[in-house]
Amino acid sequence: MKPEDTLQPTPRSGNSARLAAVHRRIREAEQQFQRPEGSVTLLAVSKTQPAERLRELYQLGQRDFGENYLQEALAKQAALADLRICWHFIGPIQSNKTKSISEHFDWVHSVDRIKVARRLSEQRPETLPALNVCLQVDISGEASKSGVPPEALPELAEAVAELPRLRLRGLMCIPAPSDDFAEQRRAFAEMRHGFEALRARGHALDTLSMGMSGDLEAAIAEGATLVRIGTALFGPRNPAPTSNP
Ligand SMILES: *Cc1c(COP(=O)(O)O)cnc(C)c1O
Repeated sequence: MKPEDTLQPTPRSGNSARLAAVHRRIREAEQQFQRPEGSVTLLAVSKTQPAERLRELYQLGQRDFGENYLQEALAKQAALADLRICWHFIGPIQSNKTKSISEHFDWVHSVDRIKVARRLSEQRPETLPALNVCLQVDISGEASKSGVPPEALPELAEAVAELPRLRLRGLMCIPAPSDDFAEQRRAFAEMRHGFEALRARGHALDTLSMGMSGDLEAAIAEGATLVRIGTALFGPRNPAPTSNP
């Protein structure tokens, strides 16, 4: 018997209970912060999860899935080709991967430089609708490896809005993790201001992609229209290796 065979399969009822719990958190935050009911979309972040877990959630009604790693995503897309999933790419983008990303995804949340945006636009197949994109903003202030600095955002948005095969939908961020609600809100409020400033400049944006398992309430309080949830839906990723006999 291979070691994997000794692991208990995750019961389907677990998926259903976790999905219901996340829906409940979203609904309660919408109510608490005077957001219209149903104004926040749930994106299931399925990195490291096997295709079968995605299929189970799909059967429970989940349609939007987010993946971080291209090769892993392509394998799952092939395994789930019979389903009508809306695929979101949310990971760092290497410029030699743009062709495949532009061919296989409906959305890209992690555009943070014009070179990548141009390539995605040029390589988006004519047979597909324009690729929906969000600009990833580095609001942590610690110059992390991904995201456009807030001060460079207006210029990048202008340039991306010109690209014919992209549809600029909004902004995305991954703030530094914090357990403090007020601190979580501060980061998301900065995003909301950037978002509103771009709208005031004439960009027709409708998507604020922010909030994860640990901070979705703060994100919804500050106007998130899409929350990206992994752990709360699937359980912990990369469980510590068990020493099987
Ligand atoms: C992994 C990941 C998430 C989900 O994080 P959880 O804390 O597991 O909900 C959301 N967004 C991005 C970009 C991620 O890489």
